[in-house]
Amino acid sequence: MKEGIHPNYKKSTVNCACGNTFETGSVKETLRVEICSECHPFFTGRQKFVDKGGRVDKFKKKYGIE
Ligand SMILES: [Zn+2]
Repeated sequence: MKEGIHPNYKKSTVNCACGNTFETGSVKETLRVEICSECHPFFTGRQKFVDKGGRVDKFKKKYGIE
């Protein structure tokens, strides 16, 4: 195994409280976070991930799927 330019920087698995997991680079191998890009209001819009179902229903009604 090569010792690179960033010896403490390696691929990490992040486990979010919402159930999402993704990989990132960090000095730690595993990370636990309360919020991530999948459930953070900043990334998902104005509503939190718990309201996702409602948003889908609105979407369906808007486009006449149901
Ligand atoms: Zn999350």
